[in-house]
Amino acid sequence: MNKKILIANRNEIAIRIIRSAKKLGLTTYVIQCNREPDALYLEYADEVVQVKEDLSDKTIFLNPEAIVKIAVEHQIDMIHPGYGFLSENPDFAALCEENGIIFVGPSPQLIRDMGLKTVAKKMAAQAGMPLVPGSADAITDAKVAKAFADNIGYPVILKASAGGGGRGMRIVEKPETMERHFKSAYEEALAAFGNGDIFIEKYLVNPKHLEFQILGDKHGNVIHLGERECSLQRKHQKIIEEAPAASISDDQRARMGELAVNFAKTIGYYSAGTIEFILAEDCSYYFMEMNTRIQVEHPVTEMITGVDLIEWQIRIALGETLTLKQEDIRFNGWAIECRVNTEDPQNRFSPQTGFIEKVSFPQGDHIRIETGVKNFSVVTPYFDSMIAKIIVHGDDRRDCIKKTLRALNDFSISGLKTTVPFCRTVLRSKEFVEATYTTRWVDSVFNTDMLESEEDAMIAALAATITYAKEYFQYSSDSPMFKSESLNVWVLNKRISK
Ligand code: ADP
Ligand code: ADP
Ligand code: MG
Repeated sequence: MNKKILIANRNEIAIRIIRSAKKLGLTTYVIQCNREPDALYLEYADEVVQVKEDLSDKTIFLNPEAIVKIAVEHQIDMIHPGYGFLSENPDFAALCEENGIIFVGPSPQLIRDMGLKTVAKKMAAQAGMPLVPGSADAITDAKVAKAFADNIGYPVILKASAGGGGRGMRIVEKPETMERHFKSAYEEALAAFGNGDIFIEKYLVNPKHLEFQILGDKHGNVIHLGERECSLQRKHQKIIEEAPAASISDDQRARMGELAVNFAKTIGYYSAGTIEFILAEDCSYYFMEMNTRIQVEHPVTEMITGVDLIEWQIRIALGETLTLKQEDIRFNGWAIECRVNTEDPQNRFSPQTGFIEKVSFPQGDHIRIETGVKNFSVVTPYFDSMIAKIIVHGDDRRDCIKKTLRALNDFSISGLKTTVPFCRTVLRSKEFVEATYTTRWVDSVFNTDMLESEEDAMIAALAATITYAKEYFQYSSDSPMFKSESLNVWVLNKRISK
């Protein structure tokens, strides 16, 4: 395919997109900016376009005109926006089209509609989706919000209609705090999205977040690729995701998948997309929003279906017919993704910036690493703190948890703290193991005492190494290799003494 694709993004997702684009024979272009001139993604592209930016201005990745100008100058055929940044900006998608460049995503109009949660919810209701009780439209002031809340009952959640990334949300427990929360939600939404519209929903107290991955083409074909559970969140932002979800039955999966496909068909959706549901304690479920882009956690779906979602996103953008049929989609085993953010879980997840002296990722057949960093990379304060994702496949959920823990033990980094120790704590928790965890886990269960000490981490790493070596070399525990040195015994004693 003799075509040029510009990736309007950075970090791991830029590298991920390059991989699929090269598979299709496209020439890949990325943008180098002076906020991170030595970033890893620059090494993967065929062509690097340099830009000089003023650090007091917003980054080029949020500047539609500047990106389209680069694309025109380099005769680019298509632009992939990745996630975040301009991926859900309808004006950017429209500007690409006006300049004869294919935007890898759905139509600008659908990005606009789905970008406003109030509009999306109305369209979803028309397609027969169940909705969380709440206001159909944006609410103008705290008084109206109070009247609504009195009607549906507290607690309620105020949400930014234009919201994303967990921002612009406030939980209101009682009428007295409505005014304060309404004002702060409005101000946060206005600052973050340039739109302060706030709507109200009943706040579900211990819910799970479930989402369906869909693929649709420009010829009306739509399929779903099953669901992901993304309930492990902090401040409404996902940290660990898994596929499939343990808490729904096959029947429920089929029903929800059908609703998702039906909705996408009704609105004429094409490209990859995600329909997010919230699942209440009684297993009732409600449409929450639709993300019109590739998501951070898309690899767990790829791991259990074997489908390359970004390859299909590109093919669909080029007008190809989706040749995958619903019955072709088979689910194999289980997958878990852990986001590696440079944040210190011991210290309220405070962001860590600076040099990565050394980083080493786990390896293995069932492990997939998506990263934007290597030794000596610099983590700057300018962008999101996610530097990598560790994705692990297992035969079933138990096997996957075990393998993920082993993979996390094999991850090491010096120079910066990360969320990896936190992920280990989650994977060992009773609630995760039993799959009863909800979006409230971090607030209601987690405390820093649950994080392991450095010695614990070392013991865990040793234990994992021994287990691995035993399996690999098929040594029995009384093999001389493990007996004589009594490393086993030492690790075991340490564990027992805890
Ligand atoms: P996902 O479900 O894929 O995790 P998120 O809503 O968390 O989706 O957003 C994906 C990524 O994009 C996150 O890294 C988040 O920080 C970033 N992001 C979300 N909204 C914006 C925005 N408006 N501008 C820049 N980055 C954003
Ligand atoms: P965003 O665009 O920021 O991703 P969402 O509407 O998808 O916004 O909500 C993000 C998260 O906030 C959800 O995954 C869930 O944890 C929480 N949340 C949203 N709405 C509700 C609700 N009505 N009740 C309880 N939690 C909610
Ligand atoms: Mg969401």
